[in-house]
Amino acid sequence: MIGLISVTAGGRSAAERLAAVLPYAHLYDGPAASAMPLAFAECDAIISFLAVGATVRIAAPLITGKYEDPGIVCVDEALRFAIPVLGGHAGGANVLARRVAGILGATAVITTAAEAAGSVGLDEFGADLGFMVEPSSEMALVGAAILSGERVTLTMEHEWPVPPLPPSVVRTAQPEPGVPAIVVSDQVRRPGAADAAEPPGPRVVYRPPSLVVGAGGSTGVTASEAGQLIDQALADAGLSPRSVRWLATADIKAREPGLLAAAGQRGWEVVTVPAAQLARVPVRTPSEIVRAAVGTPSVAEAAALFVAAGGAPDGGGTEIGGTEGGGTEGGWPAEWVGRARLVVSKQVSARATVAVARRRPRGRLALIGLGPGARDLMTPRAVAELRRASVVVGLDQYVGQIADLLPPGAEILASSLGEEQERAAAAVAKARAGRAVALVGSGDAGVYALASPALELAGDGIEVTSVPGVTAALAAGAVLGAPLGHDHVLISLSDLHTQWEVIERRVRAAAEADLVTCFYNPASRARTWQLGRALAILAEHRPPATPVGWVRDVSRPGQRAGISSLATFDPATADMHTLVVVGSSRTTVLAGRMVTPREYRWAAP
Ligand code: SAH
Repeated sequence: MIGLISVTAGGRSAAERLAAVLPYAHLYDGPAASAMPLAFAECDAIISFLAVGATVRIAAPLITGKYEDPGIVCVDEALRFAIPVLGGHAGGANVLARRVAGILGATAVITTAAEAAGSVGLDEFGADLGFMVEPSSEMALVGAAILSGERVTLTMEHEWPVPPLPPSVVRTAQPEPGVPAIVVSDQVRRPGAADAAEPPGPRVVYRPPSLVVGAGGSTGVTASEAGQLIDQALADAGLSPRSVRWLATADIKAREPGLLAAAGQRGWEVVTVPAAQLARVPVRTPSEIVRAAVGTPSVAEAAALFVAAGGAPDGGGTEIGGTEGGGTEGGWPAEWVGRARLVVSKQVSARATVAVARRRPRGRLALIGLGPGARDLMTPRAVAELRRASVVVGLDQYVGQIADLLPPGAEILASSLGEEQERAAAAVAKARAGRAVALVGSGDAGVYALASPALELAGDGIEVTSVPGVTAALAAGAVLGAPLGHDHVLISLSDLHTQWEVIERRVRAAAEADLVTCFYNPASRARTWQLGRALAILAEHRPPATPVGWVRDVSRPGQRAGISSLATFDPATADMHTLVVVGSSRTTVLAGRMVTPREYRWAAP
């Protein structure tokens, strides 16, 4: 529960705003001196609309330890700042302060050292991948070791696309005796399986969302029977229930209350798969009796494997597999093989069956458009994606522009020249190896850029996410006025990879259709005649006074721009840093601004 403490009318109304959107929020009334002890005892986190000093004074006598105390975030009366004053990491106050700042339009003032050093706070490590951290008092020791640059080991059974850690954190197959360790594993260390004679070092263990429990049951199976079978199966196999996030079953079992309750008690999402899809999954222990009863020879094993391999539970739906003819027709596409493995074969009790499958993590490729140049034209989402990449691929000039945003420890693959194809291939190869890769390009990564070659190579083995960027035409349009106010077209004049005849046919079509035309790649040192030729084609269909706008280095230092006309524009003005926009026959120049009218029908005829 989140407790909200306020004493002024302004604080109260902000508290009410937060309470409307934050889950499990509770407003504490009355004097702060009595509200604080109550909230301290009842809440996981407190938001205080008192000054930091006042908050500290009344909370100080209540403090016991960083793993017991609630996190406290102070918000000032003017709602400018959200300040975690207690429990930044373990108490979740840093995360909460960012959340509150986002809701109120305030700035989060984060003062913990891990953030100052730019490294990932251990309590948030892998959170976006679904990692759950095992509660441990050793996290602070491991965090301190990282901050002081001591050797710390990172052991991952499988390659999860985690954000980078500082270079003093080294990958090892096993934690080393006496050395602080970060472990990403779904396996529980069994007692007796001691590592070595030397005592183990402090460690933080993360549970990745790697396991899917498949379950079936006869009608009337109880939650306790199914639950006990599941718990026993996991314990016998040495698997952590914290790595289980989904209980998979057949659609016909979707309303079996015992199975639903067993999943609910453990905090797992129930995912159901049509029996016809399950029937196609190759399993270890098929049963003809089961097939006769429910239409698939396996429920538990098949459902666990199906969801682990391709069910993509991240998609959020609770029913997958879809209808016949949907994306997963065939039930078990070839590319799913190898994505999941059965780690516990079918276990049975009187009325329940259970199996467990492990899904293999997939690497992650983020295609990021950096915008035309200026930092404030880069989207916050692009910045967030850059901050979590462990490999960054791009041209030197672009990677140089964003160097300050990259986390320490990120591997940088910049190349001064080289083919786009090679950069795309390098990025895809790193993602296939399981890494979190950012492939960056100027403007939008999908406009005359790397997204297409990357997706042609990507295949099904990696996750891809794209962050749109402000493409040159939009940035130039904003400088020139509103030239794109009605139908327009983007044409690249680069004939390095496209035959000139094809380009010319498209320019002619744009000319005939009276489309506003944006020319990308208008000229370079080697390509000097193409723009003149293209403009001549447009001039055959548009009046000589048609406006032509150009912008060089939009939003970069030294930006230059101008507006002339088809009759007067000199193609030599443009180079490879320039975007040229030719108006339609309706485009005009008003007060020095290029405007293409919307041609509203309801305007007076
Ligand atoms: N992906 C980029 C386009 C790459 S093609 C985007 O979405 O903007 C390269 C061409 O884009 C250049 O030759 C130029 O015509 C145009 N361009 C890109 N950035 C520009 C900028 N800041 N100013 C002017 N033109 C730009």
